Amino acid sequence: MLYFVEVVLPLAVAKNFTYQVSETEFNYIQIGMRVAVPFGKSKIYTALVINKHNNPPQLYQAKEIHQILDEKPVVNAKQIKHWQWLASYYMCSLGEVYRSALPSGLMLESETIISAKTDAVVVSDELKDDEYLIYEALQRQSSISIQEIIKILGKKTVLPVINAMLSKGVLVLQEEVSEKYKPKLVKYIRLHEQFLQQEQLELLLEELSRAKRQKELVLHYFQLQAKDKKPITVKALQEISGTSIGVVNALVQKEIFETYYLAEDRVRFEKEADSWFVLSEAQQKAYDAILERFEQFDVTLFHGVTASGKTEIYIKLMESFIATKKQVLFLLPEIALTTQLVQRLTAYFGNQVAVFHSKYTNDERVEVWNQVLNASEKAKVVIGVRSALFLPFSNLGLIVVDEEHEQTFKQQDPAPRYHARDAAVVLANQHKAKVLLGSATPSLESYYNVKVQKYGLVTLKERYGNVVLPEIELVDLKDKYFRKKMKGHFSDVLLDNINEVLTQGDQVILFQNRRGYSPYMECITCGHVPHCPSCDVSLTYYKFKNQLRCHYCAYTIASPTHCHSCQSVDLTTKGFGTEQIEAELKALFPDKRIGRMDQDTTRGKFGYEKIIDAFKNHEYDILVGTQMLAKGLHFDKVTLVGILNADNLLNQPNFRAYERAFQMMTQVAGRAGRNEKKGKVIIQTYNVYHNTIQQVLDNDYEAMFKEQIYERKNFNYPPFYRLIKVTLKHREFEKLKEGSLWLYNVLKQNLNIPILGPEEPAISRIRNEYIRTILIKIPTTMHLGNTKTTIQKIITSFEAVPNYRAIKSVVNVDNY
Ligand code: ADP
Ligand code: ZN
Ligand code: ZN
Repeated sequence: MLYFVEVVLPLAVAKNFTYQVSETEFNYIQIGMRVAVPFGKSKIYTALVINKHNNPPQLYQAKEIHQILDEKPVVNAKQIKHWQWLASYYMCSLGEVYRSALPSGLMLESETIISAKTDAVVVSDELKDDEYLIYEALQRQSSISIQEIIKILGKKTVLPVINAMLSKGVLVLQEEVSEKYKPKLVKYIRLHEQFLQQEQLELLLEELSRAKRQKELVLHYFQLQAKDKKPITVKALQEISGTSIGVVNALVQKEIFETYYLAEDRVRFEKEADSWFVLSEAQQKAYDAILERFEQFDVTLFHGVTASGKTEIYIKLMESFIATKKQVLFLLPEIALTTQLVQRLTAYFGNQVAVFHSKYTNDERVEVWNQVLNASEKAKVVIGVRSALFLPFSNLGLIVVDEEHEQTFKQQDPAPRYHARDAAVVLANQHKAKVLLGSATPSLESYYNVKVQKYGLVTLKERYGNVVLPEIELVDLKDKYFRKKMKGHFSDVLLDNINEVLTQGDQVILFQNRRGYSPYMECITCGHVPHCPSCDVSLTYYKFKNQLRCHYCAYTIASPTHCHSCQSVDLTTKGFGTEQIEAELKALFPDKRIGRMDQDTTRGKFGYEKIIDAFKNHEYDILVGTQMLAKGLHFDKVTLVGILNADNLLNQPNFRAYERAFQMMTQVAGRAGRNEKKGKVIIQTYNVYHNTIQQVLDNDYEAMFKEQIYERKNFNYPPFYRLIKVTLKHREFEKLKEGSLWLYNVLKQNLNIPILGPEEPAISRIRNEYIRTILIKIPTTMHLGNTKTTIQKIITSFEAVPNYRAIKSVVNVDNY
């Protein structure tokens, strides 16, 4: 009998692959284990076993696996099922899901190892200097890695050198697999076994009577042991005894002590004593209502106004679920939000909380993965951004999706282009778990699901602790400019309010949805606007660095002194971003401290944290920022929020523009007055009577919902139709045009549903690739799976047309 395993490779290939194993291997291997397998010419990949059987593949000769990497599965059956759903729903390969699901620390890298060709006759003066250095190194060691070559040559571009040597027949390449995750080891110390008996010990102490420091160390060791009854680290022993490592080493050398190593978690949290709280009456009512809805619905939407204390309700709810030995997942839309939340949750739950996101190191992520896999006490509650959905949960009881309306829950690139909220609902269903979707401004989709009785609903309309919702005032920019009441981009009303708040020692948040100084520069003489040479966008002006920058690629130039079209020196800038607002504020309030939070100021591992902490500690009086400010952050002393230009938000070319504008403004406004003092919000706009602005003013979510859902129905948009967007890209304009028309026509002929396009999007070229999009609208009454199969077939045949093979196509299901 022959034995085979079916595996997934971390690649964008549509099918799985079958490898041959021996009978012993077959019996050892379990589904969910990793195996290293050869693929292609000389590559080795970390593959995941998803099936075992005795049927040889029909189309190819099965290769043998390279090695088995696990002793027990690292992925469970529930995960594999969920990943298969993701691949099929979001129209990508299982390999792509697997590749983004497994932390790269578990994805062993096949490392290229280079060795000298044994029979090569090398004339050393035929080698260039760099080549000779490598050749020489290989005379001393049998093989060498790329990393080592980089070190030897002192540069990163070593491939050309290696290639040259390969063609001269001096080197051979081979692939080796290495485990990337390394546990963090801590050094411990213990007495040698022989001294565990009383008599031996007394002899020892006597023997040491002349080595006073050594004897003291031994006595301190006993003290520590008596106190903690836990393994003793070398560090702790040194600290308590105040001796140098030399004394420790001497005792180890005499074989009185011995050292050993234990792996330790890289991340630990301590519970805080004063983290306990009780729910207010209104909160308790909402809490009870949620549990009640859960009896009838698997998914419940929790619509609670800003600062109603949703987090506190989540905490009590999670507590009740972990009490029943279930795992809990808490999903957040963005890393920026995790800091505050992790603080609050760990203060309450201590080391039962694990955090999972991309700013954690590889090793830290592998540790969380293993904790969840082992259903560890340390990971009863997992907080994470969307990728936390991929963790090896075995017993989920509850998933909380906070700020469920956030569009960042949808992954755009690379595949799988999944929506974490929707994928969470499916995952919960597999575990028979409950889902709580929380927001002050629910997405239209979720609220619609409430209306059609798919989801339960709980509403909380009051803020915690008698805090009232902020008062909103509109400022008509047309009128202010006309009557010359503007200073820069600030109306007199906004300035008066800022002054008042700052005099009282409170803080201000100002929102402008653009970064940089100005979105473009313009020649006054001829109207020329500098554009990015590789993208179809104007360059953003940065005054402080005196640069023009492209926001879509890395292109940057020094700011020009004259027009590149007509040579005129009369250049001006148009529009404004956060950098300009910051500059104006510095001029208007020279003695105040002004901070800025946008993509340009929050790079780096603790980029957000630094600014958020500084603002919280009142190191800034005013914080200017982009939509990052609209997230669920809580600052005690902010009593004024200003939106500098609401029209930016309204004028977006997207069917969700008004829904999002409402959400954004309501959320930013919600940062004001979160303590006893009543907050104020000032919205500057040219469209005071715009419905959406009025809905924000009246805090009328229902009105927004009614208007927008009506539009969606009329114009065939979600939740009445599902959208699939196909994006095509190519460097040649004409070929792309022709190819996209071909695809559009075939889709149109085969599907009897609305298909729009092929359209040039607002930004029709990025990094020298032209872009066209086709939008497919599938009525919810139609069978989704079948339609997707047809679409996939058509795209596959499109990719097979020789002339269009080089056109890249990206399929995005439920595109936002
Ligand atoms: P939301 O997430 O609904 O915007 P938060 O959870 O941030 O609101 O709560 C707002 C503030 O009120 C926070 O400082 C929070 O600690 C506090 N708070 C809410 N509920 C309670 C409670 N039951 N006991 C003590 N403090 C609370
Ligand atoms: Zn000009
Ligand atoms: Zn560019």
